[in-house]
Amino acid sequence: MPSELPLPRSAAEALDAADPLRGFRDRFTLPEGVLYLDGNSLGALPAHTPAHISRMVEQEWGGGLIRSWNEAGWYDLPRGLGDRIAPLVGAAAGQTVVCDSTSVNLFKVLTTALRLRPERRAIVSELGSFPTDLYLTEGAAPAHERRLISRDGDTLRELDELLDQDVAVVLLSHVDYRTGRLQDMAAVTELIHRHGALVVWDLCHSVGALPVRLDACDADFAVGCTYKYLNGGPGSPAFLYAAERHHDRAEQPLTGWFGHADPFAFEPGYRPAPGIGRFLTGTPPLLSLAGLAAALDLWQDVDLGALRAKSLALTSLFLQLTEPLGLPSLTPAEPSERGSQVSLRHPQAYPVMQALIERGLIGDFRAPDVLRFGFTPLYLSHAQVWDAAEALRDVLATGVWREPRFAAAAGAVT
Ligand SMILES: *Cc1c(COP(=O)(O)O)cnc(C)c1O
Repeated sequence: MPSELPLPRSAAEALDAADPLRGFRDRFTLPEGVLYLDGNSLGALPAHTPAHISRMVEQEWGGGLIRSWNEAGWYDLPRGLGDRIAPLVGAAAGQTVVCDSTSVNLFKVLTTALRLRPERRAIVSELGSFPTDLYLTEGAAPAHERRLISRDGDTLRELDELLDQDVAVVLLSHVDYRTGRLQDMAAVTELIHRHGALVVWDLCHSVGALPVRLDACDADFAVGCTYKYLNGGPGSPAFLYAAERHHDRAEQPLTGWFGHADPFAFEPGYRPAPGIGRFLTGTPPLLSLAGLAAALDLWQDVDLGALRAKSLALTSLFLQLTEPLGLPSLTPAEPSERGSQVSLRHPQAYPVMQALIERGLIGDFRAPDVLRFGFTPLYLSHAQVWDAAEALRDVLATGVWREPRFAAAAGAVT
């Protein structure tokens, strides 16, 4: 085990001095002494969010009461916030709404896509995807044949084998939650379309981590979280994208009154709203939307090219600094194939992560042997990346992780 990192901390500090995004750090509230490398699970708190939420609660709810549905624009928020997320995912206006959870939205778009290809009886997904995505293909397509890309397989090559006239829909993660591998959205979408199938992209680990180009790639549907890189707050609602060319024929299954063409006519039968509004279902969680609205105020000032450049600088630096530690990396070394995280393998990843957390470095553990570190360019500095690598070097060199207090409790997996 090396006694020091391959670069001095001053090298990282020099990168910070030239960082065009360094001013964003002051726009977040983060506890002293914490190195937060878990913003890909729960984003940090933007400094102005508490005041924004209090104002909403006191003035709009407390003062405006039911009048706020119109006067404070509550009714339009799911569409309005969708249009504010749209530039982050490369979508023209009118194709993105904010509503429900990623899981619920997956059910909606998978079912919609299957109904657009009724004669086809198979669905393709990935064995290594986040479990809810797999579970939702079961729920949305219980009678379809399921074909799975193998864990960490070559997606384009395997898709080429799995796709035929029978495949209706392919569900893929743009960035893999476990390995951080980034798919080539344009090439994969093109291959799927060549076989007449539709694609659903899960953007949970790419929105707010790198520029996404849904329209330019001709994507059909997409979903994504807002509580990870977007910093919308714990449990903030997800977003859903549907390409405009599908709107008129889209029949989403959760036909609630918020997706009705005229919700306040209280008609006995369902008629879908025109456009993306038909993907809404019920009353939106306005307190949670307030947290997301505050976060999006911050995002409108972010240059996504600079964000991507810094993200790659941070992950490359961490890979370079930790390389001598000898932990195999699950994350691609090639920057163009990488999201904004680094996953390193260690046979005792659970106690190692517990020891890091005790030292103030918060990352996470993914069973069975993955140390996962998320790099959020808006509030992490290069010097903090150096500090994180040093913490990992020290925990491994001293063997402190072997102390019994870091051992997994029986049955604990997270
Ligand atoms: C975080 C995450 C989800 C979470 O779904 P919820 O409905 O918000 O619980 C889904 N898919 C992926 C790929 C994720 O990373």
